[in-house]
Amino acid sequence: MQHDVVYVVGHKKPDTDSVCSAIVFAYLLNEWKKVGCKIMKVEKEAVPVIQGEPNAETKFVLEKFGFSVPEIMTNGEGKVVALIDHSDKVQSLDNIDKAEIIAIVDHHKIGDVTTPNPILFINFPVGCTATVLKFLFDKTGIPIPQNMASILLASILSDTVVFKSATTTPMDKEIAEELAKIAGIDDIIKFGVEVKSKLSDVSGMTARDIIMRDFKDYNMSGKKVGVGQIELIDLNMIENRIDEIYNDLNNVKKQGAYHTVVLMLTDIMKEGTELMVISDEPKIVEITFGKKLEGKSVWLPGVMSRKKEVVPPLEKTFANL
Ligand code: MG
Ligand code: MG
Ligand code: MG
Repeated sequence: MQHDVVYVVGHKKPDTDSVCSAIVFAYLLNEWKKVGCKIMKVEKEAVPVIQGEPNAETKFVLEKFGFSVPEIMTNGEGKVVALIDHSDKVQSLDNIDKAEIIAIVDHHKIGDVTTPNPILFINFPVGCTATVLKFLFDKTGIPIPQNMASILLASILSDTVVFKSATTTPMDKEIAEELAKIAGIDDIIKFGVEVKSKLSDVSGMTARDIIMRDFKDYNMSGKKVGVGQIELIDLNMIENRIDEIYNDLNNVKKQGAYHTVVLMLTDIMKEGTELMVISDEPKIVEITFGKKLEGKSVWLPGVMSRKKEVVPPLEKTFANL
């Protein structure tokens, strides 16, 4: 690792947005270094890095548009960094307090990193960091190369689940259309389904892999709750594995001493979630979602987003238990 560079890095457990937006923001910083930038002075060369192995979807996107996988870097000590798609210490590099942060580009709630000096900190409440990046290109008059427009578009389609997530804004759609024009991609939806289908192939995964691929722990009014999500193009793809997944979700609950474990099996095309819940107090499902568990799970039409539609109402139920 070099010391005279800016490392541009997304969050831990990288997703397509955090990898592709890091690659593209590093490019933008280097363009600013070359031609100057009216927002900030850029003196160091920027290099994208990632905190862990990219997932199958991200690998597909990088390969399709001719990008190599960035190097893995996990320690921020003594580094100059730009943060992409996060501003929470727990999601960031180890020893992020001992790094110098020069920029943050994000679309989440504001996290807990702090800086001694003013920095470029741009955060829109939109569906994807790539949307914010496109704004930065336009505002500073830097054209986006075709292959970079392609991976930014893929990031928007990934984060917004092809515009079906509740996090999608009109700005995401507008910018996706602009990027598609630059990228020469005619059918945005078809491309989005192609991108999302890469994480839908779970045939080679164990039940535990499926549960843990995107699993987060929460403390809900003193109770340990785990909520996982898997997004599939078609839920029929795992129909014959439901019992196996349910049994292992039970093991996860016991092994982790959870009060409640939830697994969202989200059907991207049908726009809804089959919610699997194992809880010490199963009534929380009916209180939270107004529907009873029928056997192992319950179908919630329209529910796609863990952070907007599942975690907040669950937290409310736990607070009132
Ligand atoms: Mg992300
Ligand atoms: Mg994102
Ligand atoms: Mg995400």
